[in-house]
Amino acid sequence: MSTDCLFCKIVAGDIPADIVYSDDKVIVFKDIAPKAPIHLLIVPREHVESLAELNPEHDALIAHMMRLLPKIAKDQGLEGGFRTTINTGKDGGQVVFHLHIHLLGGQKFAA
Ligand code: AMP
Ligand code: ZN
Repeated sequence: MSTDCLFCKIVAGDIPADIVYSDDKVIVFKDIAPKAPIHLLIVPREHVESLAELNPEHDALIAHMMRLLPKIAKDQGLEGGFRTTINTGKDGGQVVFHLHIHLLGGQKFAA
């Protein structure tokens, strides 16, 4: 856990979040400033700063997060599809430096 990390604090239960799914590796909660009717964040319990910090030890975690996406989307009723985004680094628009996947849906996105 990184003590000054917002998402570590949410994982620890020190800051509230609207959690829709949780297991031993990840939590999934609603984005506080949704950019679509459904906007969730898939967040590993382990503090990993960004996609750029991944190493082979994270392979199982990343596979788990990827495979979870369609399951969460189905649970949310996103039968027609969904969009995923990962922002990496300050130039990539990353604001919270704890790896997360945005899952957006409930509308039709432009191609
Ligand atoms: P990123 O730009 O990829 O780092 O995205 C960070 C996301 O975290 C943004 O979409 C924020 O709206 C969201 N966010 C920030 N604080 C919270 C919070 N306390 N609970 C839920 N989502 C948050
Ligand atoms: Zn963290």
